[in-house]
Amino acid sequence: MQRAARPHCERTGVVNCDLRMGKSFDIGLQQLTRREAGARPDVSFAGPLAARGTFFLETFGCQMNDHDSEKVAGVLLSRGYRQVETPEAASLILYNTCSIREKAAQKVFSRLGEYREKQKDGKIIGVLGCVAQQEGEDIFERAPWVSLVCGSASYRKLPEMLAELEAGNHRVTGLDTDTDETFETEMTRRDNPWRAYLTIIEGCDKACSYCVVPYTRGPERSRSSEAILREVHQLAALGYSEVQLLGQTVNSYRDPRPRGMRFSELLLAVADVPGIRRVRFTTSHPSDFGQDIVAAIESEPKLCDHVHLPVQSGSTKVLQAMQRTYSREEYLEKVDMIRSAKRPIALTTDIIVGFPGETEADFEETLSLLEDAQYDSLFSFKYSPRPNTPSLSMNDSIPEEEKSRRLAVLQDKQREIQRVRNLALTGETVEVLVSGKSRRENQWAGYTTSHRLVNFTSQAHELLGTYVHVRVTDATPNSLLGEHAV
Ligand code: SF4
Repeated sequence: MQRAARPHCERTGVVNCDLRMGKSFDIGLQQLTRREAGARPDVSFAGPLAARGTFFLETFGCQMNDHDSEKVAGVLLSRGYRQVETPEAASLILYNTCSIREKAAQKVFSRLGEYREKQKDGKIIGVLGCVAQQEGEDIFERAPWVSLVCGSASYRKLPEMLAELEAGNHRVTGLDTDTDETFETEMTRRDNPWRAYLTIIEGCDKACSYCVVPYTRGPERSRSSEAILREVHQLAALGYSEVQLLGQTVNSYRDPRPRGMRFSELLLAVADVPGIRRVRFTTSHPSDFGQDIVAAIESEPKLCDHVHLPVQSGSTKVLQAMQRTYSREEYLEKVDMIRSAKRPIALTTDIIVGFPGETEADFEETLSLLEDAQYDSLFSFKYSPRPNTPSLSMNDSIPEEEKSRRLAVLQDKQREIQRVRNLALTGETVEVLVSGKSRRENQWAGYTTSHRLVNFTSQAHELLGTYVHVRVTDATPNSLLGEHAV
């Protein structure tokens, strides 16, 4: 399973810790247009909804959903809407949903129920994302106060859908999945001033038995390398120094244009854009992970020292039941490839415990895989069945308490591995992109190229957005501690 598809998150690690619930923000159009070159703001629009136009956008799920919300916010802002921090202050309430969590649809309907009365106040309510795609027009039946149901592949059509809503249409849908129009939206309102997400491949052609992504996001479609590089140039001109290429199976990228870039070639081309200092990518599928990607990282320091390579289980028998397309041995060959690189590359993963049929011996194989792989972090989950997935028909026979026990054992083991690996960095000097400032005086935080969180002290007055060197003085399983090395 790729990170974007994680079920029931029980996180242990520090890497890719971008799961945020209910994020909201307010940003002015002036600031947006200053930051987003190449966008086509349509600020002249003055329809009835835009005249009232405030929106509240709540996002659940993964980085791809986060980035989708950035696109949705960009489209709304470009039409003259203003983003607000509470549903009460909004004329348009949008939920960008994730169907990976257990009983996701139920939770969305329960949340929608809370807004039934608000619709009577003239508010317009929309459901976006995976639950919208999964439930489709049934949402109108179960929650007739909802006016918009739109899956991620249709966000490009949001302006037309908004125009329909503004014209008073109460049932607007965008539910196509097999479209190439996924990537280009009018404008993207990015949430982070230094690191930009960029989706390069949408959907998934794999068929992991527990995963709803092929159903909710449709078949795999890659964005052209020309369009990607054009946007990276724009981002660099706007001051972004780190880009993170996104896709459920990002390394399955196939350039649809005659240029025909391989994923590893695209990585190098992105790193070559003046102004870009760090390039990340997530999430990689082990079957499509080749030596050329490691060689690209070895040859280009701007490619970050980090690979997220979800394994899911250490048992070949369970991997087969999951339809993961590789064995334990084949996966470990990829790990060897990464660990043998000329410079250290952090390795992180996803693991599901309690998949149907997982015996104690299978679970022990997963624990021994942790020893072999020496992950720098992992996301771990208890299996639970999802609608529209093949594993739904499998007997989910492992009791919940046993799943919880396995998860706790796994996490304890990984915590110890991380503690040792992080402590080994004590005394080293690492480069940090500073992204946070503590309320405590002189305390700052940021990430290394290996995506380790570093909390450090500095007497400097302003460091946000800069790259600094930090001497590591101590470590915990989830972070490094240090001091600014001036
Ligand atoms: S089906 Fe695709 S998105 Fe889902 S877990 Fe498998 S590789 Fe990842």
